[in-house]
Amino acid sequence: MKNLLCCKYCCSSEKIELREDLKSRRGLAVSLEIICHNCGESTSTMSSKISNKCYDVNLRLTYGMRAIGKGGAAARIFCGLMNLPPPPAKFERHNSLFLNVLKTISEDSMNAAVHEAVIANDNNSNIAVAVDGTWHKKRLFFIERSCMCYVC
Ligand SMILES: [Zn+2]
Repeated sequence: MKNLLCCKYCCSSEKIELREDLKSRRGLAVSLEIICHNCGESTSTMSSKISNKCYDVNLRLTYGMRAIGKGGAAARIFCGLMNLPPPPAKFERHNSLFLNVLKTISEDSMNAAVHEAVIANDNNSNIAVAVDGTWHKKRLFFIERSCMCYVC
């Protein structure tokens, strides 16, 4: 990797040192420090982009673990087995971020389904919806997006 680096100040690709700043590690996101011993300048960067105050790589780890039904304990085992840095200490905090996003998406989806149902009902918002299991006794019609309505 050192062969791919050059100093942004003097453009030298020799005497470049790349090291990790262990004190700035945030879960799987690591701080990389590039030091040019030719001109004495140094610069650092994190290995992952940050969004919503969380590093993308940590969000992806949390999302991946959640997608397979696992949590922080499994993430620690996975990272250990893969010889990766440990997952973020506040692993569960990422779950609330996903919960908020999923809540917003589900509410938007349900609102869109309601809008479609109203349009399908000649712009009449007086639509009966069954969620108590009595639907199988009624005459049914289906609307896209898995919204099920029945007519009494
Ligand atoms: Zn330099």
